[in-house]
Amino acid sequence: MKIDSHTHIPPKMLDLALHSGIANGLGGIIITDYSGVAPFEALQTNRHDRTPVLHHQHWDIKKTNDPRVLRVDHARDGVQGTIYVGKGQEVESEKGHILALGIEKAIPAGMSWDKTLDAIYEQKGIAVFAHLFGKHSGGCGQKVFEEAWKRYSGRALGLEENAQYWNSNTNFQANQLATRLGAPLLFNSDIHGAYSISMFGRPYVQANLFGKKLYSFFPGVFGSSLFDGMKEVMINRPSSIGRGGEYNATMETVSWWVDSIRKNGWKKISGTLKHALKGFKK
Ligand SMILES: [Zn+2]
Ligand SMILES: [Zn+2]
Repeated sequence: MKIDSHTHIPPKMLDLALHSGIANGLGGIIITDYSGVAPFEALQTNRHDRTPVLHHQHWDIKKTNDPRVLRVDHARDGVQGTIYVGKGQEVESEKGHILALGIEKAIPAGMSWDKTLDAIYEQKGIAVFAHLFGKHSGGCGQKVFEEAWKRYSGRALGLEENAQYWNSNTNFQANQLATRLGAPLLFNSDIHGAYSISMFGRPYVQANLFGKKLYSFFPGVFGSSLFDGMKEVMINRPSSIGRGGEYNATMETVSWWVDSIRKNGWKKISGTLKHALKGFKK
């Protein structure tokens, strides 16, 4: 099953994103907003700001036997198909960003990294350190992951390559660390609905590229067993996780950086940008 497990899709862009995901062959996506699990719940109730998230003439949103997974069928105009949507969050822990996949309830931001992991595992979730080496943009750094790998051995714990860090050392280092430790490495788009800074005079919309950006391939995982399947693969056969899709193109990355600088301030991320540029020169 092709799964993108790191996405920031606002409810109003879900229609476009799911359309694109189905058209590009994704089997599952996990919504990992910073704010908590509200975007998943908006889809579950098909309500956001008093309007439907998806049009019911075209879409059918179904519960599955896993309350953390919805099955979404698209039946009309053009693409026909099914995509599974999973519940998750990108938790801003004290040390940096940790993906909490397959949780039921939102996890508070600002806790230490180990308290955050405890909270994820209490809910039988999966923990993935997001952009671990992006130290100035929310990565927890190598030390933290090595410590976690020791302390939480036998749990579903992984790290990622992130399509937003186009061709950078950040991904290369994550890949090397995963290989050295035998840790599961996921491939994620970290896709956003739209960047507020435009590339060509209008907001750049990423939602229509779902399934083209990085995604993982989990062999033997199907349908609503998304999280149970991912967990089993991550614990028992991490090296079988495959990669598909593309990194961002240069201009997309540039517009993402400009957007991040605007939101977070230059100081916070200048170091990571230097890293990225180093990768660019190679
Ligand atoms: Zn992040
Ligand atoms: Zn993210």
